Amino acid sequence: MDGKGMNMERIKLRNRSLILGYINDYGPVSRKDIAAEAGLTPASVTQITTQLIEEGLLKELGVLRDGLRTAGRKKILIDINAEHSYVLTANIESRETVLAVCNIKGQPVASVKDKAPLVMRLATDKTQEPEAFLKVIAAHLKHMVSCMPADARNRINCASVGITGLVDTEAGISLNAYGVWNRRVDIASVMSEELKLPVLVENNVDALAQAEILFGLGRKTENLLMIKWGPGVGSAIILDGAIYKGRRGKAAELGHYIVKKDGSLCSCGRRGCLETEVSYAALTKRLSFEPDDFGNAYASTDEETRAYIDSAIDLFARCAVNSSTILAPNHIVLTGRLFSSQIIRGRFIKACRSYDSSCDDGFILHSPLAGRDGFVGPAAVYVQKLFG
Ligand SMILES: [Zn+2]
Repeated sequence: MDGKGMNMERIKLRNRSLILGYINDYGPVSRKDIAAEAGLTPASVTQITTQLIEEGLLKELGVLRDGLRTAGRKKILIDINAEHSYVLTANIESRETVLAVCNIKGQPVASVKDKAPLVMRLATDKTQEPEAFLKVIAAHLKHMVSCMPADARNRINCASVGITGLVDTEAGISLNAYGVWNRRVDIASVMSEELKLPVLVENNVDALAQAEILFGLGRKTENLLMIKWGPGVGSAIILDGAIYKGRRGKAAELGHYIVKKDGSLCSCGRRGCLETEVSYAALTKRLSFEPDDFGNAYASTDEETRAYIDSAIDLFARCAVNSSTILAPNHIVLTGRLFSSQIIRGRFIKACRSYDSSCDDGFILHSPLAGRDGFVGPAAVYVQKLFG
């Protein structure tokens, strides 16, 4: 292909991705709306959407009549076809691993037998060799596939894994999943050998941020600071609609803000990181609350314990407000098991507000994806590849 041809090809791909992104964020929409909003000619919108309908990525939703003003002119709405294809997902964190089969809207597929969502939770087994645990995961996923409708099984395109710590996403390798495994693990090659599928691997919090971009608050907002609490402290920066990864993918390590001189040794090798003070592992040295019940337990515990938790929340809030001062995001988005408690979220926002009155509950929001956080991240990593 000559230079001009390559350029045209690139423009076509960019427009395809632009159109998919717009329909994903605002769909169902008409072709006319896409042309106006995405700044493309009606002819090129028609050409690209026709191709995407042929590929099965988009579907027409029938005819909607405009109001009286346009004298009943027909308007055909188009939207993302959620059932275009499916992805097997695994999200591996230090306490729990969640497996699922998802469509391209990040929703779990229903089992043929009992119509229950194909989602499974298991304890992350750190006593096994990582490769052996990955094979257990693959076996469960294969069983979940056998519970899918037969015609949907041929539309499984990919498996996608979210894992804590540092990841080489190009090679599909976990470089160090602090607290899960402390060595290099070639996740993509083990899983693709077992599942006979291409396998994507991404840091779990970045995957969740990708989900926020595609399915959550990021659909309408360009700049977000995401903070995840439970079991560790994770964070991600969404800048101009994309994840900011920084040098060697190490940006947004809020859990590794140093908050205490000569504090406890952190999994990152330094001392006194925020995570050594407020992670679930740190808190449970003093408390015996289950993460699911943290909010209720907080409300009914004694004064002294409550004061201890409040001081941890205060420390965490200070780090969040400082990060927000640097980044000036449109919103801070809270996610993760501990933030799923309204009581804990309320205490956290109150602590943030005590430092900065603009950090209120209009600025700090709970992620709308919170109930789906075990699988929506890895699903979004697949969808992002699909949309280009
Ligand atoms: Zn650290």
